[in-house]
Order: sequence, then C-alpha cells, then structure tokens
Amino acid sequence: MPITVSAAFDSGNIEVLRADGPQAIDLAIRKDAHSDFYQWFYFRLSGARGEACRVRITNCAGSAYPGGWPDYRAVVSTDRQTWTRTETSYADGILTIDVTPAADSIWIAYFAPYTMERHHDLIARIAAAPGVTTRVLGTTLDGQDLDCIDIAGGPLQVWLYARQHPGETMAEYWMEGAFDRLIDAADPVATALRAKASFHIIPNMNPDGSRRGHLRTNAVGANLNREWAGPTLDRSPEVVHALAAMDATGADFTMDVHGDESLPHNFIAGFEGIPKITDRQLGLLGDYKAILARLSPDFQTRIGYPPSAPGRANLTMSTNQLANRFGCLAMTLEMPFKDAAENPDPVAGWSPERCRALGRDCLAALLEVVDRLR
Ligand code: ZN
Repeated sequence: MPITVSAAFDSGNIEVLRADGPQAIDLAIRKDAHSDFYQWFYFRLSGARGEACRVRITNCAGSAYPGGWPDYRAVVSTDRQTWTRTETSYADGILTIDVTPAADSIWIAYFAPYTMERHHDLIARIAAAPGVTTRVLGTTLDGQDLDCIDIAGGPLQVWLYARQHPGETMAEYWMEGAFDRLIDAADPVATALRAKASFHIIPNMNPDGSRRGHLRTNAVGANLNREWAGPTLDRSPEVVHALAAMDATGADFTMDVHGDESLPHNFIAGFEGIPKITDRQLGLLGDYKAILARLSPDFQTRIGYPPSAPGRANLTMSTNQLANRFGCLAMTLEMPFKDAAENPDPVAGWSPERCRALGRDCLAALLEVVDRLR
C-alpha cells in the first residue's frame, strides 16, 4: 500500500515534497494566503500502519516563530478526538517527527486542531442553553459567519474573544471550558457572574484563516490583532464587526485569548503604555493575574511579554485599543503550544482538556474582581 499525505480538508495545511517510504516523507508548511507567515500544520498520513515513520518538515527555519520548534513535540491522533505528543526534534531548520501509526490513517498537527465544523458544533450546542442567544455580527471575506454568543445577565459588559490568530486553536478549546461553566445552572461561579454581568463571546474571530489552515492571518493576509486602530471592510471586516458590537454595549472587562509558539507558560499580557492608562486599571490587572495564579497551578506571572513603555502601546492591538477606548480591564491571555513548564504533562503536553480547565478558572478569577470593574 502506498504512503499518502494529504491536507485538503478543513483547517489542513501541508505541501508534500515526497512520500517515497516510511523513512522518506518530506513536507513543507504552506504560507498563509497573501502573507509570509506560516507555522500551523495539520495533515493526514495513510498507508503506514505499524511502520516506523520519520516525517520531516523542511522549511521551519523561515517560519513565523523559529523559537517555537526547540523542545516542541507534534500531536498525533487516530480518532481526531484524543491527541497525544510524539517524538519530535528540531535541527538545521528541519522539524523531524517520529511516529509509528497505530491505524491505517493518523492525523498529525501543530496542536489539537479546532476545525470550522467543530466551531459550528459548538455554536449549535451552546445556543440550546437557557438564556443564550446567538447572532451573526457580519460576514467574512470568504463568506463565513462571524458568530457572537450573548449570555444575558447583569449590567456589567464582559467580552471574551479568541482566535484572532487562527492557528492558535487552544484558544477555542479555552472557550469550550468557559462556555460550559457559564451555562451550567448548578455552578455557583456562573450563577454569581451572570447576576452581575452580561457576556458577549466571539469564540472564533478568524473563521477564514481557521478553515484555510493559516497560522496568523485572514483571507487577505491581514493580522487581525494589528487592525484595531482602523479596521476596514476590505481588509479586516472581522474587526470592523466586532468593534461595532463592542461599541454598542461598551465593555467593562475584555479578554483576548491566544497561544504563544515559543514560551512554555500560560501568562497574561496587559495594556501598559496606553495613552489614557489609569492606576485603577493597572491595579485590577495585577490583582487579576495574582488571583488566577492562585487558582490555577497552570498559570504563572513570572514570565511573559515585556510591558510597553509609557505612551508607547500599540493601539492596533485589541487589548490596548479596548483598554484605552473603554477605560476597562482588558487583557491578552497566552497559552503554550509546547507545555506549561510549571506543571508538565509528558503524554499530552498543553492540551484541550487543560485549556478548558483554564477557561473555567479564568471565570472564577473574574468573579473575584467583578465588583470593582465599574
Ligand atoms: Zn496570537
């Protein structure tokens, strides 16, 4: 049986250079459309059951984050539900993945994929819960819906949004954890939060990049998290529509959920350096991070991005734009592609299950600051 490698499916990304035998599989990651970014891969390997395969991705030196490859391990699955890490090494710009398929077909990815089909399943499932409404904020350049889920509640306005960078699939698994907690009528954290706040949630800001198998951009190569100062319908309709919806409600708390290719940690980036910064905002930010670190051993505050200097914040980034625009507590949550070094899992690494757990804990942390948000 010949070995085949394919990626012509929802969220797939790979180019086949050769697949001449189990030890002669050379691949390359495709660039995001109209962009030089690439790092996300997701493909199917068939016809090699029980054979020791060596898969080489040969163009990693030019990827968006070469620092993401050392100490990184790819994920594999035979059922596309359970993803485990497999032996992976990086040298001379080549990522080498060693795997012995336990089935006729296996799927190999940068992180557990979150396809647009799964996204639609999520929307359908959450929409059925009491007090939940779903709306389409607008249409993407590929003609997909930009979904927003509203959970009616108290007067505070909470916005959660994820996957501006579509290859950061952990962000939508985080959303699953947050949703499941918020719609659980028996969960006291959810009940207390919903009494105080209404939630508006965009679980996937970048459907086009997600379906196309992009790392970082939408259908025309726009990095959506550099579009918030002046988005346009031609280039970044996703941000135009999201920002209009946020302006309509206002915002007291916003969280933008991401993944970081290089750092093996969960951390939060803030909005230091915005022109209208207040001590109140900074105090809330520090307190939220400390509370989350107390609640979740997977989260830490020691390592993260350096804060911007006073007045130097990049207002094209959503967290800076929203903190400046609404005077609110805003933050960017980063989760690892690799693992959380504080609490490593040798089998799964950072995983969908742990993303969901962090989503639940982020809501518990929100409850501890919610009375100070306005
Ligand atoms: Zn990101």
